[in-house]
Amino acid sequence: MSRTTTFDAIVIGSGITGGWAAKELTEHGLRTLVLEAGGPIDPAKDFVEHVQPWQLHFRGRGDRRSMEKNQFIQKNCYACDEWSGKFFVNDNDNPYTFDADKPFHWIRGRQVGGRSIMWGRQVYRWSDLDFEANAKDSHGIDWPIRYADIAPWYSYVERFIGVSGERLGLSQLPDGEFLKPMELNCAEQMVRTGIAKSFGGERVLTIGRCAILSENHRDRPACHYCGTCERGCITRSYFNSIGVTLPAARATGRLTLRPHSVVHSLSFDTATRRVSGVNVIDANTRQPLTFSARVVFLCASTLESTRILLNSKSPEFPTGLANSSGELGRNLMDHVMGAGASGTLAGMEDHESYGHRPNGTYTPRFRNVKSQHPDFVRGYAFQGGGWRGGFGSDAPGFGREFKAQLLKHGPWGFQFYGFGECLPRPTNQVSLDPVKVDAWGIPALHINCVWSDNEQKLLQDMSVTAAEMLEAAGATNIKPFVDHNPPGLTIHEMGTARMGRDPKTSVLNAHNQAWDALNLYCTDGACMASSANQNPSITYMALTARAVDHAVDQMKRNVL
Ligand SMILES: Cc1cc2nc3c(=O)[nH]c(=O)nc-3n(C[C@H](O)[C@H](O)[C@H](O)COP(=O)(O)OP(=O)(O)OC[C@H]3O[C@@H](n4cnc5c(N)ncnc54)[C@H](O)[C@@H]3O)c2cc1C
Ligand code: SF4
Repeated sequence: MSRTTTFDAIVIGSGITGGWAAKELTEHGLRTLVLEAGGPIDPAKDFVEHVQPWQLHFRGRGDRRSMEKNQFIQKNCYACDEWSGKFFVNDNDNPYTFDADKPFHWIRGRQVGGRSIMWGRQVYRWSDLDFEANAKDSHGIDWPIRYADIAPWYSYVERFIGVSGERLGLSQLPDGEFLKPMELNCAEQMVRTGIAKSFGGERVLTIGRCAILSENHRDRPACHYCGTCERGCITRSYFNSIGVTLPAARATGRLTLRPHSVVHSLSFDTATRRVSGVNVIDANTRQPLTFSARVVFLCASTLESTRILLNSKSPEFPTGLANSSGELGRNLMDHVMGAGASGTLAGMEDHESYGHRPNGTYTPRFRNVKSQHPDFVRGYAFQGGGWRGGFGSDAPGFGREFKAQLLKHGPWGFQFYGFGECLPRPTNQVSLDPVKVDAWGIPALHINCVWSDNEQKLLQDMSVTAAEMLEAAGATNIKPFVDHNPPGLTIHEMGTARMGRDPKTSVLNAHNQAWDALNLYCTDGACMASSANQNPSITYMALTARAVDHAVDQMKRNVL
């Protein structure tokens, strides 16, 4: 038996983008229903950042047998361990398929808060170098917006969530509204000085810009450097939707949050040309339900949103809702990650770092900013950091000397770790698997995604330039590396319902509104027309706030 309930607005998903949509819609006076597939989270019980290894059953090493059986994809993510594994999906319940020679690691969280609980919190604005790239080199289609369109929304988001960072005045990485930057340690300062001396200002090292409070902000206290944010944060010192946007939405009295609500499709009314219903399976009772509203925000994450659209078939849209362009599912991107170099830094033996700073360093893109590299287009940035080598736990020997060795620190080291841009290509595509369904009977995705030659060249170049910078800093024992990670593992999956200027070649317009159903907005990573090399989530947040502003304006004018 199905029933229908009506709201002003419906948001699908409660992660980073869904939380923002809920906050903005409710604060604009709309009665808003948030439909979330996963269960609720109780920070007091579920957040485990202060739990020690000896308090865990497997002492922090994890239940390998259970991981192999139930999280055989998720376990590839560094953050999916004995503490945080519960925030990642069960891969049996949430299957997808890929060809054996084209692996894709789809890392997901299904709970209130989505992946905002485990995310790495690195936040970097995009610039016109990124928004103009497609138009300039003809990969993909032109973005329908430029930096000036989104800049005020970046500021709006940063002021609310709190972002610590250093202003650099770089055109390719615009500055934001920053709280004070976290401090570099002595090794990082040494590398920063070495780079500054050797590359004429073209290459720069700074502290990461991150959505972690370096000082008290609004009603949230500063971070106390316990260091394992992917396990949650009881003091709400980093941004997640549970602690920041959803409480703001709740405070309006206009939020209805419905966990265990798995959206499987949207209904389309051909007469009004609007989404007329959001079709849900209650994850606990298996009861089908339908909800409706004047406006629907699709924020279920890049590939889940596209899956819902692909599964919303009707005589008018036989290949999925909002797919009159045929572009739905195409142009999947992720950042190519995993090349760089590490080295040892002599001296500073009397220095030690204090606490567990939950942040590293950042070296903004320097390739193809002012001049064109002959071998590849676009660019990459480095995350990384310096550290003091650990106590000698693998020292040889026994007895008194062995114990003395155990207490000795190693030397300082530094590593650059690159994240590169992925070009939009129509052949990197997702579609509905003809056979496989998930635990709720909803068709699973088939993912077809491979790196191109350009991404491989970026990786090679990362290992060369990282080694050059370590050399400039006086490092020894320099080890360049190139790891070949499958797409997906960077967890910056983007595209598949891109924004554009032309309904014939894009799914969404300049305001994230579906060309084919104007009361439908999709503001998660599915909307992206290119990938840049910066971590993308703050751009999704800014686009979400901007899209809500547009929707509310349209509703006031009775266009929606
Ligand atoms: C370990 C890790 C580190 C990361 N580090 C960074 C970083 O440093 N910087 C950065 O920019 N990004 C980072 N990311 C990526 C970032 O988490 C995502 O880009 C971001 O969470 C996307 O927001 P979203 O709202 O689209 O999706 P999510 O936050 O994943 O939320 C989607 C929500 O939708 C729900 N949902 C899905 N399907 C349905 C359905 N059918 N019906 C109802 N609800 C549904 C899900 O349960 C989930 O709650 C990281 C991710 C991980 C896991
Ligand atoms: S390091 Fe800071 S932000 Fe991270 S969990 Fe600890 S207090 Fe929270």
